[in-house]
Amino acid sequence: MSKVKAKKYLGQHFLNDLGIARDIAQSLSLKNYSKVLEIGPGMGALTQFLIPLNTEIFVIEIDKESVSFLKKNYPELDNHIVEGDFLQLPLKEFFKEPIAIIGNFPYNISSQILFKAIDHKDLIPEIVGMFQKEVAERVVSPPGSKKYGIISILLQCFYDVEYLFTVDETVFDPPPKVKSAVIRLRRNNRDKLDCDEKKFLKVVKTSFSQRRKTLRNALKSLKLVDEISADRYLSLRAEQLSVEDFMNLTNCFE
Ligand code: SAH
Repeated sequence: MSKVKAKKYLGQHFLNDLGIARDIAQSLSLKNYSKVLEIGPGMGALTQFLIPLNTEIFVIEIDKESVSFLKKNYPELDNHIVEGDFLQLPLKEFFKEPIAIIGNFPYNISSQILFKAIDHKDLIPEIVGMFQKEVAERVVSPPGSKKYGIISILLQCFYDVEYLFTVDETVFDPPPKVKSAVIRLRRNNRDKLDCDEKKFLKVVKTSFSQRRKTLRNALKSLKLVDEISADRYLSLRAEQLSVEDFMNLTNCFE
């Protein structure tokens, strides 16, 4: 069967370095789960290294042509191929047990994939994936860096994050304009935040919306009820606060 023709609007950049595909597959820890969902398998560059692992592999692919290719070339996937949009997939209905997520992700929806993962954090013990390098760096960035921001904090609340390796444009067909990187996120043991989640989100978002200002200025619109405890943070800027600091700070507001 002929190859799938890459469609730009689906973010299709097929990986043609099998060594890298194998390295991504082997980055799964396989701890605390026995099912894996690959998002966007395309022609199966990565899938072929997932099939031999000692887990049950599901794939979700939006592109009909890729789905036909997979059905023909990987008959062992059998009824584990879902044709559709990962962002629309009702994960909790589909999967009743923990499921890891893996993929050379379509870059146009990579942040949305991560936000969906946060919403299903107790179903998803691990995420291994290829992202645009810049997105990968933001996810794993520690406090104090320019790259540290909302997405770093929201993920690091519930996941331990690791930058695994950088991947060159040249190993994709067609090559993307930017470099890529593979990262791993593993669920930490925090069940919930030590503060109200909605308020936390508001404090974090408001703090970073004016990230060059001190928090005293950036958070002017919110009502402070514990000035004494907040004092140690207010002369700092958002990027200087850890997840724990933001939880403490959240508890200082109404
Ligand atoms: N994993 C393959 C393909 C990567 S390209 C490889 O490494 O070669 C990204 C893939 O994601 C494409 O196959 C594209 O069709 C698929 N895709 C794009 N948007 C999607 C979505 N919303 N849900 C599921 N798959 C999607």
